[in-house]
Amino acid sequence: MEEKILVRNFEIKEILPCLTTPGYIRFVAQADNRLDDVIPIIFIQTPPGKANYIQKDNTLTLRMFNRNVTLFASGKIGVTNTPDVNAAKDFLYNTLKPLINNAYKDFLKHGPPSKDQIKAIKKSSWMELYKYLPGENCGECGYPICSSFAVAVFQGDAKLSQCKLLREPKYNSKLQNLIDKFGRMFLASLGLDLINES
Ligand code: SF4
Repeated sequence: MEEKILVRNFEIKEILPCLTTPGYIRFVAQADNRLDDVIPIIFIQTPPGKANYIQKDNTLTLRMFNRNVTLFASGKIGVTNTPDVNAAKDFLYNTLKPLINNAYKDFLKHGPPSKDQIKAIKKSSWMELYKYLPGENCGECGYPICSSFAVAVFQGDAKLSQCKLLREPKYNSKLQNLIDKFGRMFLASLGLDLINES
């Protein structure tokens, strides 16, 4: 069967001096396909602390490797804080291209996220996640209390799977409520992959 690939190539259209790091560049590239379908998927697959999604424009800014990466539905891509053109090409082909094409596979398999799901994720906060955690403050996740763990998970610095208690039968209803609220794909972005579990 033919592999489903959305983006194969990029053209770097503009290179400018980076505004934050002397000697670095920022650049604008154009993908060889539109990104309408994958932008909402990438948004829900990214920890909220690292993503800013403007739903009305379908524009997403990601924080990756100390860079701001903005994806536009047209296929335009803006990237800051990059050492040089070679690093720009490396980032486009070895980081962004797999990210986009994996999101496209998920789009084809699971369809687009619902508007309600996107709304819930946009409004989400570490405090909301905290409500669904066991609340034992046992420290087994590597964080002393559940609230500091919730902050780290939201920032993408810890994985939700580090809280083993959440998978215990006693907390089944909390986990189920979390799934119902945000969906399995978003939980995977927080580091709890239930999609590939049978
Ligand atoms: S392992 Fe779970 S219950 Fe224990 S502190 Fe971490 S988040 Fe809280």
